[in-house]
Amino acid sequence: MVYLISACLLGTPCRYDGESRTVSDGIRALLAAHTLIPICPEILGGLPTPRPPAERQKDGRIVNTSGEDVTEAYLRGAREALRLARLYRAAGVILKDRSPSCSTGGIYDGSFGGRLIDGLGVTAALLSEAGIPVFSESALPSP
Ligand code: SF4
Repeated sequence: MVYLISACLLGTPCRYDGESRTVSDGIRALLAAHTLIPICPEILGGLPTPRPPAERQKDGRIVNTSGEDVTEAYLRGAREALRLARLYRAAGVILKDRSPSCSTGGIYDGSFGGRLIDGLGVTAALLSEAGIPVFSESALPSP
C-alpha cells in the first residue's frame, strides 16, 4: 500500500531547527512492506528551513516566536498534503507527534512554555475532516 508520511520521520532534515531524526525501527518495518511518500506540510506551505517554531493559539491562528502569523502557510501546506493523499490514493498518512502541522493528538498550548494540550495539527485536522486515515508515529499501521 501507499502511505504519505511526515518527511522528518524518514530522516529528512526539514524540522523547524533544520535537524533530522533517526528513523525508528517501526518505520523501517513499514518501509520494507509499503511505499512511503515523504511530505512536509510546512515546506509545502512555503516556509523555509530552518524557521522559527510556531504554535497554534487559542483563537486558532498559528503564530511563530517572531510574532508572525503563519496561519495561511500552514493551511496551504495542509491543502497540498490532502491533494497529494488523494493523488496517490494513499491508504493513510503517518504523522509526527506534537507538531502544529502534523500532530494527530497533542499540540503545544501556544505559550511556547512546553505545555501540551489536546488538539490536532492543521494538516492532521484537514486530512481527518476529509476522511483520510491518519496515524501517529507512536501508533503505526500494521507492516
Ligand atoms: Fe516534520 Fe510535519 Fe514538522 Fe514537516 S511539518 S518537519 S513533516 S512534523
